[in-house]
Amino acid sequence: MDDMYDLKGQVAIVTGGNGGIGFGIASGLARAGASVIMAARNREKTAKAVAVIEGFGVKAMGISTDVEDESSVRAMVAEATAAFGVVDILVNNAGIGMAKPPQDFTLDEWNRVINTNLTGAFLCSREVYPHMVKAGGGRIINIGSMYSIFGSEVAASYAASKAGVVQLTKSLALAWAKDNIRVNCILPGWIHTDLTARARATGKYEAIDSRIPLVRWGEPDDLAGAAVFLSSRASGYVTGVSLPVDGGYSSI
Ligand code: NDP
Repeated sequence: MDDMYDLKGQVAIVTGGNGGIGFGIASGLARAGASVIMAARNREKTAKAVAVIEGFGVKAMGISTDVEDESSVRAMVAEATAAFGVVDILVNNAGIGMAKPPQDFTLDEWNRVINTNLTGAFLCSREVYPHMVKAGGGRIINIGSMYSIFGSEVAASYAASKAGVVQLTKSLALAWAKDNIRVNCILPGWIHTDLTARARATGKYEAIDSRIPLVRWGEPDDLAGAAVFLSSRASGYVTGVSLPVDGGYSSI
């Protein structure tokens, strides 16, 4: 049977692919047949992730990368294309949060969040662009958040960065449609990862849980299906959208 979700022979870069949501997405792409490059800072964590992804019978590679750093992003894409010849899929997943009232942010702290979550996605997209053009097309998936939609009294920089990711998605989708590059965004709800460990520890967990229509926090693997869909031929006429994968959280 013709499998419109098949990613065999495709090459994907997942930034922050060594853990959490990035690893859930990397696993999904690998299970659909793609070779996966995981680009993150922690080498040890990346090496472990590479070993697990190889277990799906695809090629995997880790590249030490800091998405805040333009030269590091350049070197990462150069190494990826030297090894695999092409980049078909880019998932801009690397991200950080910082919780404090807006008036307490130093400029440095503000910039770190924006640079990682928003500027990092721009830098990686810009860097893969000529390779995707040369290959005749590609797919980019950005990772937003519920805070792409809602405000946050304790995470202004995070919310601003994630709202920016949605507009970056639409803008790249418009600019690069002519190049057969589709650009979409996933808006994860509340997912069990290191990033949300603090919210779980501070008693916010139950309040959030009871507000989710599907009445459970998500797991990193819950993002895999949406990522495979947006990477595959199944979404061939979809570009510029931001898809909530949130158990219904943003529908209330
Ligand atoms: P984690 O903290 O588990 O993972 C974040 C990943 O990003 C790590 O793999 C980390 O790897 C990488 N990373 C962070 N900074 C950089 C950097 N400068 N350069 C390269 N890699 C970096 O968090 P999540 O899995 O939860 O988050 C993944 C994405 O999903 C983020 O964009 C986050 O904002 C978003 N998200 C998460 C939600 C949740 O509920 N968990 C909800 C909505 C969105 P390393 O440290 O090795 O660099």
